[in-house]
Amino acid sequence: MMGMMEGKYAVTMDLYPLESKEWNRIYPFYDHLKEGRLTTTVCKDCGKKAYPPRVICPECLSENLEWVDLPTRGRVLVVTEEEVGAPLGFKTPLIHAIVDLGELILFTKMTGVKMGELKEGDEAKLHVFPVDSVPVDGKKGTVIWQERVFYAFTKA
Ligand SMILES: [Zn+2]
Repeated sequence: MMGMMEGKYAVTMDLYPLESKEWNRIYPFYDHLKEGRLTTTVCKDCGKKAYPPRVICPECLSENLEWVDLPTRGRVLVVTEEEVGAPLGFKTPLIHAIVDLGELILFTKMTGVKMGELKEGDEAKLHVFPVDSVPVDGKKGTVIWQERVFYAFTKA
């Protein structure tokens, strides 16, 4: 069970599949994003702060978690650029960065920057944007279009 909870998520994709139980329980993350807030969960029992947000504390397995705000500005530590070989559906170039938010080191997609433009030491800030709504299977063959936002960082 721990192994599953600690699994790695593809960074350019959603943190959790929409249909999963985890999605239903971490949806405040997306509500907060719509307000321009980057949030995660902190354990009220042992104080462990985890990112991405969890439904169970990875440290002590408590479900007694609460939402806390993370900084929305940070400093770029490492930049990765990918001009070819991007996954289907993603515009090239794909630029990612490791951003130091102070209390958290985040690997994130970067938007609004050109190849070679972003450098180590640059300031970056949260950028929330709408993404294509996705069809979610409803009951009895109906399809619900789920409106969504996601986030990246951009040069501050
Ligand atoms: Zn805990």
